[in-house]
Amino acid sequence: MKVTVDQHSGFCWGVVRTVEIAEEELKATPRMYSLGPIIHNPREIDRLAQKGLETISHQDFAQLRGQKVLIRAHGEPPSTYELARKHNITLVDATCPVVTKVQERIRKFHDNGYQVVIFGKKDHAEVIGLVGVTKGDAVVIKSVEETSKVDPARKTVLFSQTTMDKPTFYQIADALRERIKELEVGTFEESAVDFHAKDTICGQVSGRDKKLREFAAKNEVVVFVAGRNSSNGKVLYEICRDTNPRSYLIEDETELKGEWFEERDTVGISGATSTPQWLMERVKLAIENIFQPATV
Ligand code: SF4
Repeated sequence: MKVTVDQHSGFCWGVVRTVEIAEEELKATPRMYSLGPIIHNPREIDRLAQKGLETISHQDFAQLRGQKVLIRAHGEPPSTYELARKHNITLVDATCPVVTKVQERIRKFHDNGYQVVIFGKKDHAEVIGLVGVTKGDAVVIKSVEETSKVDPARKTVLFSQTTMDKPTFYQIADALRERIKELEVGTFEESAVDFHAKDTICGQVSGRDKKLREFAAKNEVVVFVAGRNSSNGKVLYEICRDTNPRSYLIEDETELKGEWFEERDTVGISGATSTPQWLMERVKLAIENIFQPATV
């Protein structure tokens, strides 16, 4: 049985950068707090916890005074920075530059009176940060059906959480354009309502679709390694499953099942942008050592 780790999988550069910032800081500070899990991967969180990084919630954060706190790649709303200033907290800002850029663009449109619509999941940390930039004004939608929440009479801009899927983004953009057009026809408006669709889906995620499909098709079985709360992981795993129904999602090697590999010759291991390389290698070893049929 041939087991291959997908070369194009694993940490995106934004997550690599965040982990590097954390590790560098931890060399000088024996203990630092991370506001929320640094990445959606419990195994990597454990590894960094051993180096002194303690994960805290926003409630814990509100109680802290004079400590050092890491802001993870997803970013934070302006209220977090204000609270840190008030409570003498030193922030180590590891927000991914791609997310910072989206925040800046949203701020500009909001300041210019636009209705900001965000395609994303309202409870996702990145979206909470993006909505915070609009002081809570942004409308968050995750499907074409939810475009009914948008006021078509206002000048509008559509952005996306960086890890959402492109086809749905463009379906939402088309649906919004359609609603705006219908309004013009209905009211005999002469000029079109200003509408912009800004595709802010990260290239690190969207660029992977094609390569992942090829990888999933090339292997008889695909083992996808990701934290179950990773939104990017869910999107990428669905792509695997769509291409190859013999795709399985696991958090680590303890979840592997022998029956997946019976009479199979090729196994591919892939992972989310938050899956560390060392974890995929460990899964590979486990498959080779435990599930490899004994040769006589
Ligand atoms: S997926 Fe893109 S936006 Fe998200 S952390 Fe990675 S590089 Fe940054």
